[in-house]
Amino acid sequence: MARYTGSVCKICRREGFKLYLKGERCFSPKCAQIKRPFAPGQHGAATRKLTQYGMQLRAKQALKRMYGLLEKQFRKYFDMASRRSEETGTALIKLLESRLDNTVFRMGFASSRRQARQLVNHGHILVNGRKVNKASYLLRPGDVIEFREKSKGIVPVKEAVEAAQDRTTPPWLEIDYEAVRGTFVRFPNREEVEIPVDLQSIIELYSK
Ligand code: SF4
Repeated sequence: MARYTGSVCKICRREGFKLYLKGERCFSPKCAQIKRPFAPGQHGAATRKLTQYGMQLRAKQALKRMYGLLEKQFRKYFDMASRRSEETGTALIKLLESRLDNTVFRMGFASSRRQARQLVNHGHILVNGRKVNKASYLLRPGDVIEFREKSKGIVPVKEAVEAAQDRTTPPWLEIDYEAVRGTFVRFPNREEVEIPVDLQSIIELYSK
């Protein structure tokens, strides 16, 4: 399946809530989900009653798109989570949150997960002092993320860091904005991660 290349704001409007896919614009009143809070298309504003399957599908699509994953990748994380001893929804969130691209975004070193993925893929990021260019790299508690010396000054990073300093730091991360460095201290608890979907719906969908 090809990666989605259309308007990302339409994805938020389709799901009915902000998925923060477009960088700084998502935090401003220009956000399309604020300006046009209804589904895209000619009949987008009409209310639709979803079936149970429809609701489960929408929940899965929203979470998958929020983390910028394709179906196969998302399914892989779900299968990994379901093999763990803890509750599947909690395990799934821990896996998704420990991805390197997601953590670079959460730390505020990129204005969106998409930009974070690009920074990782282009080799700007070090984990524990070693270059890692795999966005899906799963971090472990204590891992330190920083930029290569010559990458610290690139404009998108500077802009993202400046904007992020006013936001609340996720409690499972430690961030030194001055050094553009952060630590993945621990896995987040389920309730610490703001997820706009019902995880149980996703579990039920994949359990069919
Ligand atoms: Fe979604 Fe961001 Fe577009 Fe708002 S600006 S609709 S949060 S992608």
